[in-house]
Amino acid sequence: MRSILAANRRHRQFNMQVSGFDAAISKSGIGERGFEVRYESAPWQRSCRYATRPLMPRVAEDGRRGAVVKAPDGKSTHNTALEGSLQGSNQRGTKQGERMIAGIDVGGTKIAVGLIDETGKVRVRTDTPIHVERGPQVALRGIMEILRAQEQQTGLVIEGIGIGCTGPVDPLTGELGDVNTLPGWQAWNPVSELSAELKVTVAMENDADAAALGEARWGSGKGKRSLVCITVGTGIGAGVILNGELYRGVQGSHPEIGHHIVDPAGPYCTCGAYGCWESLACGPAMEQWYAEQDGVSVGQTAKEICALARAGDRTALLAVRRGSKYLGMGIANVVTMFMPEAIVLGGSMMQSADLLLDDLQAIVTANCRIVPYQLCKIAVASLGPDVGLIGAAQVWHHRFSKSKGQYESRCV
Ligand SMILES: [Zn+2]
Repeated sequence: MRSILAANRRHRQFNMQVSGFDAAISKSGIGERGFEVRYESAPWQRSCRYATRPLMPRVAEDGRRGAVVKAPDGKSTHNTALEGSLQGSNQRGTKQGERMIAGIDVGGTKIAVGLIDETGKVRVRTDTPIHVERGPQVALRGIMEILRAQEQQTGLVIEGIGIGCTGPVDPLTGELGDVNTLPGWQAWNPVSELSAELKVTVAMENDADAAALGEARWGSGKGKRSLVCITVGTGIGAGVILNGELYRGVQGSHPEIGHHIVDPAGPYCTCGAYGCWESLACGPAMEQWYAEQDGVSVGQTAKEICALARAGDRTALLAVRRGSKYLGMGIANVVTMFMPEAIVLGGSMMQSADLLLDDLQAIVTANCRIVPYQLCKIAVASLGPDVGLIGAAQVWHHRFSKSKGQYESRCV
């Protein structure tokens, strides 16, 4: 146990006791040895149990299914530090003490926490649900527990923390704005609080900007100095990188390209305006239009509508054509306004990119009349479901790392 104590010095700031235990995973019945960390004087005063390293992924998997780690004496301890899924915890090739950037992706319903290396690879990832009603301090303690568990498990060391968060956020002060999925969390400052607790530098950006930074460094926008990364799912978000730098509006404000108006006679948008790009081209817009057509049952998701279109369903094909028309019009506007080297398209709608891309390119060609649109590559995002975490790590690099210089030179 002494080696564990030495491996994670941050735990020493609290009066902590580490002891071994024999455990059995209740669902599988596999017996294993592990260790227990009991924090006596930490703010959250609790104990966390960890199985020995080879068992960690299995413990996490069982934890996701609601299993508990049971001690032979019959007492059960739910491993809350590992609540959620733990993925990518392959430790082969990991050097003890290797420095990593922690990425935190705060979404509408869950928080993903991971450690990301210099190549943009996620070494370890833990997802945990957000309990909005419990407030941000509970979430903060959960995040810190996960980060400490990840350090302990992998032997990696956190050098800095990057956060991508559903907006609005203030990237300069680190405060959350009035995020509609996080009522009551306004003015919470995870940047200053995590920095004070873990004694590392922390940076935060709007999640669309984080995705853009990630794709620009390690994804489909690699090597591009100017790009617009557009996420199309339940809404449309976008991050703009110009000349290798993240573009900000006045006082750090995030431009909301998803809410530029494409059709003034269009539908009412969640933002209160009519005919925003998002209200016409996101997934729910396709679903609503499809449901309104005669003879069509309600409740089809955009993914299902695209599957029906592939199978030749006429109304579904019309829905896809309509969606790609409006998506293409907005992209053509972005190309005309910014003339970036690349448009990178991500989000759940791009799982059906094969149905959309030809139309999108054709609409750009037809509408971008006086800019060299041929020089703008339209590409599908490549970082996949980890884009939020990878982007968050690049938020830190972009703000603090010396490799920011490398990033700029890579983009030449
Ligand atoms: Zn809007």
